[in-house]
Amino acid sequence: ERLNNNFQFVDVGRQDPKKKPADTRKKEFNEIYEPFTSVEVRDQSHRCLACGNPYCEWKCPVHNFIPDWLKLVSEGNILEAVEMSHQTNSLPEVCGRVCPQDRLCEGACTLNDGFGAVTIGSAEKYITDTAFAMGWKPDMSKVAWTDKKVAVIGAGPAGLGCADILVRNGVKPTVFDRYPEIGGLLTFGIPEFKLEKEVMVRRREVFTEMGVEFRLNTEVGKDISFEDILNEYDAVFLGMGTYNYMKGGFPGEDLPGVYDALPFLISNVNRNLGFEKDPADFIDMKGKKVIVLGGGDTAMDCNRTSIRQGAEAVTCAYRRDEANMPGSVREVANAKEEGVQFLFNRQPVAIIGEEKVEGVKVVETRLGEPDENGRRRPEVIEGSEQVLPADAVLVAFGFRPSPADWLADHQVNTNDWGGVIAPEAQAYQTTNPKVFAGGDMVRGSDLVVTAIYEGRQAAEGILDYLEV
Ligand code: FAD
Ligand code: SF4
Repeated sequence: ERLNNNFQFVDVGRQDPKKKPADTRKKEFNEIYEPFTSVEVRDQSHRCLACGNPYCEWKCPVHNFIPDWLKLVSEGNILEAVEMSHQTNSLPEVCGRVCPQDRLCEGACTLNDGFGAVTIGSAEKYITDTAFAMGWKPDMSKVAWTDKKVAVIGAGPAGLGCADILVRNGVKPTVFDRYPEIGGLLTFGIPEFKLEKEVMVRRREVFTEMGVEFRLNTEVGKDISFEDILNEYDAVFLGMGTYNYMKGGFPGEDLPGVYDALPFLISNVNRNLGFEKDPADFIDMKGKKVIVLGGGDTAMDCNRTSIRQGAEAVTCAYRRDEANMPGSVREVANAKEEGVQFLFNRQPVAIIGEEKVEGVKVVETRLGEPDENGRRRPEVIEGSEQVLPADAVLVAFGFRPSPADWLADHQVNTNDWGGVIAPEAQAYQTTNPKVFAGGDMVRGSDLVVTAIYEGRQAAEGILDYLEV
């Protein structure tokens, strides 16, 4: 009966997977959503209208075959669904968890217009998690192996997307990463309450079994030179991310008690995963009044990590209004439920304190004319200065490209803001024909799913270059 109901979307409303109560989740570093049950995922997937020209597919950066796998999962056909979802995405269970679906696939769903979008992300996560639990593995039995050698530098989503396409086409890549685990920011950035770390451990095992070789704890430029890699391999993919922290440019940023977002998040992951080398590296917000500056995903992760560490109070100050926040609507809502206070239209002008941080001076803003990107520029309201008391400040203003200096020595050019030049129209080939690049180091800090897409496209370019 379920399969014949074309009006399921009227009879059954959108239902997200159940969330743990805020009081429980704010004490633990675990994912906050329960998995869908098989009945829930079928009922929710069956709400899909199977639009002839599905906008969700176009809006999804990897162009997943969304209505097709929703149909398969609504029929209970997990194994076909997982094969299909892997045709376009290398880490579907990760994207299902961390994509800002409200801006991507679900934002484009026809049902978003009043009925509530299909829960595409949660279905995507369910398909892969369930298939793995059933013992599914990518079928490599028909792969014809070549003797081509490709090095991938960086085991983040861009590098993993690239390695996935290469190995499925018979090229066994060697992936170098300076960290002790794969994932890049998926492991050492995004906290466990959005993405539990076992997900990446499982992927490492799956990729390894497929034929990908990981050389972890290996920093290119230090433990092995780029020159040696260029000499040893037929082609190279760079997926090294972007790690220069943006500063506010106001007084007091160097006071003790002011931290950049990423070192704070990494120190927390390192402690939770047992990678901590020195306990002094841990940045602890227990019992502190914390102010987080910024309004993106990184700021939300800092807010919610501080809450879980037992901060006395966490306030997030953002210079635009709520509607103009870059962070995912879902994650802002989760942060509010967990007790984060938001101050919108507040721009920091100074961090104040004698020996250490004591507060943040902010001014109120209102939104003025749009800037060159179409986003309305915040304008300061005269005489609106205010000091917010703080014991610790976390600065989450985003990242600028951090290209390694050895790239230029090998004809890999960067543009005027430091991004590696690797145009999509040339399959992400850099100015050195043997070297391809993708993800944050090319486009600036963006999303997991766009990094995966670029890694996969670059791999196609490498295969053409190698004439495989
Ligand atoms: P990275 O993930 O940064 O991976 C680069 C890898 O290269 C790293 O593992 C690094 O160790 C390695 N590397 C660098 N230099 C070397 C070297 N010389 N030798 C060896 N290895 C090297 N996106 C979303 O879609 N959803 C979210 O919810 C989200 N939340 C985020 C939260 C935070 C805190 C941050 C910082 C980002 C978030 N993002 C989110 C953005 C997303 O994580 C990135 O856009 C994405 O990870 C970029 O992938 P990448 O592969 O280009 O780079
Ligand atoms: Fe949506 Fe991201 Fe999955 Fe695409 S990859 S369908 S945007 S959750």
